[in-house]
Amino acid sequence: MQKTTIITGISGQDGSYLAKLLLSKNYRVIGVRRPNVSPDLWRFSELGINQDIEMLDLDLQDKNHIISALQKIKPDEIYNLGDQSSVQASFYSPADAAKYSGFNALLLLEAVKETDRSIRFYQASSSEMFGASKISPQNEQTPFQPISPYGASKLTAHLGVGNFRNAYGLHASAGIMFNHESPMRSLEFVTRKITYTLANISCGVETVLSLGNIDARRDWGYAGDYVQAMWAILQQDNPDDYVIATGKSNSVKSFTSKAAALLGYDIIWEGEAHETCGYDKLSGRLLVNIDTSLYRPIDPDETVGDFSKALKKLNWEPRVSFDELIEHMVDADLKRVQK
Ligand code: GDP
Repeated sequence: MQKTTIITGISGQDGSYLAKLLLSKNYRVIGVRRPNVSPDLWRFSELGINQDIEMLDLDLQDKNHIISALQKIKPDEIYNLGDQSSVQASFYSPADAAKYSGFNALLLLEAVKETDRSIRFYQASSSEMFGASKISPQNEQTPFQPISPYGASKLTAHLGVGNFRNAYGLHASAGIMFNHESPMRSLEFVTRKITYTLANISCGVETVLSLGNIDARRDWGYAGDYVQAMWAILQQDNPDDYVIATGKSNSVKSFTSKAAALLGYDIIWEGEAHETCGYDKLSGRLLVNIDTSLYRPIDPDETVGDFSKALKKLNWEPRVSFDELIEHMVDADLKRVQK
């Protein structure tokens, strides 16, 4: 029998990759769209799935509206990927973070509980919930210490998932996802900002790359691998939480240098040379501007996840390496810019 799924946040990076994966498994895929808002569906076009997704206008802050949609659609699975766009954005609007990354998940869980407790529910939890934790690598037992409004809001939703599971027997699970990137990442994230700006520089469209904290280290994986884990989590007999990560961290500096090397130029950092920031064609050197306004009020130095539970229980492990991820992103952005 064909399964039906509802995905919130479907127009984003993860939503689009997940929709493509579920379509390949013959699911009926329904994406949630905020009433009166037309999301930009460029990712669907790039992934060739824009004809295959049904869109549903649904106000995720209106429980009765959610309940009547669930009664009508009768989904087998719900993937709650919708949230505020990023950690950076949450510092500007903590109230929006609480609403979109915390409250919405709780309302969906309430609606599931009141409609049909057999619906399987996936929550996109985040490594940002670990925040200031000095424990490394981090696993499902590591205490949470969020330090951003985004992390705190995600934790509200995450704790809600455990609570609905234990108190009401819901099949509600969470993937504690470490950073995951791809050519579908939006430009506000550092990896895509780097590959897109470097591709523009190499085509002469832009000259300067400005970055904030280049010493920050993140556990970066490939989003295409991570959506496989989301699906696998909901196929388990018992609901549970899983850390999804690569187990390796790399710095923003290293990501930038590797991406630049693929395009044939050397990176130097502002302060290392008395040159103006920008690309010098003659020497092949790109002097990166360090812009302190891009620093966050508070930022974890490093994140590293321990995915051994996912490996053992889901048989999941990351397939795309850090170097392959960079190659993939640089290549895609170069093609886009050349077009
Ligand atoms: P996050 O880990 O979910 O916040 O993902 P981001 O890609 O937004 O940021 C990853 C790291 O890159 C953070 O530690 C940022 O402080 C650092 N970073 C350095 N420069 C930039 C920048 O220009 N933009 C962003 N978004 N992050 C930057």
